[in-house]
Amino acid sequence: MALPGAAFHQKIVWITGASSGIGEALARELARQGARLVLSARRETELQRVADLVALPKTDVLVLPLDMTDETSFSPAVDRVIARFGRVDYVFQNAGISQRSPAADTTMAVYRHLMEVDFFGVVGLTKAILPAMLKQGNGHFVVTSSVAGKIGVKQRSGYCASKHALHGFFDALRAEVSALGLRVTMVCPGYINTPLPFSALSADGQPHNQMDKQQANGMPADDCARRILRAVAGNKREFYVGGREVLAIYLARFWPARLFDLMAKRKGDGVM
Ligand code: NDP
Repeated sequence: MALPGAAFHQKIVWITGASSGIGEALARELARQGARLVLSARRETELQRVADLVALPKTDVLVLPLDMTDETSFSPAVDRVIARFGRVDYVFQNAGISQRSPAADTTMAVYRHLMEVDFFGVVGLTKAILPAMLKQGNGHFVVTSSVAGKIGVKQRSGYCASKHALHGFFDALRAEVSALGLRVTMVCPGYINTPLPFSALSADGQPHNQMDKQQANGMPADDCARRILRAVAGNKREFYVGGREVLAIYLARFWPARLFDLMAKRKGDGVM
């Protein structure tokens, strides 16, 4: 297994969702480990703040604003990265939004938007990058799924669906491209202390706009980022990170009936 420090040294690492939370923490830790970074998300000022924070030489960081719902921008974005750095070694597909609404009340527009950001955007960007990686004969996709990508959670039906879908797509992609030198790591965080609940969509598409207890008490984002990087350096194909809520994945695997009962009996939303 490669040492974490060596795995990313001088590598070109593209992070989506780099303006906040786990993505920002990944950027800081990767810079510390000597990576050269491409930072993407919608808010350019926040990306610039992160770029200033990581304090890399100007030649080693590219702020590249990107909206995951704008498929037409993906190929030009890839062209910019290749023109600047000549290749891309790792892509952390980490941008995402969550949901806080029961299925009965949730509009189809909310479901479609969750799928656009959390699934189709990720697939579109992956397809735009694939030709360059296949030409290189190496490259590593790191995809931030969720514990909610492995089990069903109340008030997250669309979010769960989009994250589950990522596993189907990337497990199939891994099977197709591993013999060609490409790697895929699916990351399933439990509760991580980030502002994710603020942008989560309510039933009518309005932002939830408040912090939730589970995230507030969750694992610090820096800790999460360090663990993710260790798993990626070790080429883990699937990795779970968080507190005891990640145990739900094992319960779902080995005693699904028990997990289904527990999830149905829960009064609030969330896993634990
Ligand atoms: P944050 O809200 O802090 O980060 C989300 C990031 O996604 C932001 O940088 C945001 O940037 C970006 N983003 C959102 N919508 C878009 C869009 N349309 N186009 C481009 N970028 C977008 O939350 P986290 O750091 O927690 O979330 C990171 C990932 O981790 C997500 O995929 C989330 O589902 C996953 N996750 C988080 C957990 C947690 O408990 N925190 C648990 C399990 C999974 P901007 O607004 O500038 O576009």
